[in-house]
Amino acid sequence: MGKTKCEGCGRQTPSFEIVEYGSMENGYKQLCRRCFNSEAAAAAGLKDFEHVEFDPIRLKDSGGKVHEFHFRTFLFGTGVALDAFELRKGAPAGGSGANGVSRT
Ligand SMILES: [Zn+2]
Repeated sequence: MGKTKCEGCGRQTPSFEIVEYGSMENGYKQLCRRCFNSEAAAAAGLKDFEHVEFDPIRLKDSGGKVHEFHFRTFLFGTGVALDAFELRKGAPAGGSGANGVSRT
């Protein structure tokens, strides 16, 4: 699985967790969700925004195969979006958010 260094906190982050954040004028930064959310919160003037992490959950299907689901939270102007996806072979699979940000 590819990893990308977050330009906010410097953490090596799985590439699918990286968000391009910025503007045409100021350029784009590659940020992990946590940094993205805090930047978005700052931009929205929210001082007390708390980033919430949900632990991945593992479910076994009837055939005994384990499915691992991850949750992502994204802050938007009007609220927080929660996106769930299944991790298969180290990459998001299924769901609508496999290729970036999905708004729910
Ligand atoms: Zn970061």
